[in-house]
Amino acid sequence: MGLEDKIPEGILTTSLEGLVNWSRQNSTWPLLFGLACCAIEMIAVGTARHDIARYGSELFRASPRQADLMIVSGRVSNKMGPIIKRIHDQMLEPKWVIAMGICASAGGPFNNYAIIQGVDKVVPVDVYVPGCPPRPEALLYALDKLREKQKSETFAQYREAEQRAIRTSADIDALAAPRSKQLA
Ligand code: SF4
Repeated sequence: MGLEDKIPEGILTTSLEGLVNWSRQNSTWPLLFGLACCAIEMIAVGTARHDIARYGSELFRASPRQADLMIVSGRVSNKMGPIIKRIHDQMLEPKWVIAMGICASAGGPFNNYAIIQGVDKVVPVDVYVPGCPPRPEALLYALDKLREKQKSETFAQYREAEQRAIRTSADIDALAAPRSKQLA
């Protein structure tokens, strides 16, 4: 005989972790920023045709302190790298990152001194979206994948991620090093 037999009908039981994950899955708020052409497709997910609101993610926030999802939509230049890092640091834990498109994932066609070959060299990435540009449906699929990940995360993992995320200003300076070398 379990607890289910004792409590009245219509009462649900769950773990605190499950409840927190469920609420995070259904209210992940993206940061309001775009880097290049992929951003146009990202904007399209907010339209009635694609309706990102079904995931509870229609509130694109202009402040990193109110957002928990960074969608990197476009190529990341050396100049933007430290800025993205700083904005990511300003987002509260737990936070997630989607690299949207081949430029954000791996540099894309821009294999040159000005472009960082993947935003994962600057911030940790949870989901990569292939394509140039990926369609809005691809970004929604990435959100689905992220929701699967969020569902299985534990409080212990959140704590570990927080500790890993702590970096020094020397890390930020190091981002500029390859560019300085190429310009020398
Ligand atoms: S992946 Fe294609 S569409 Fe997206 S930023 Fe790069 S060049 Fe533009």
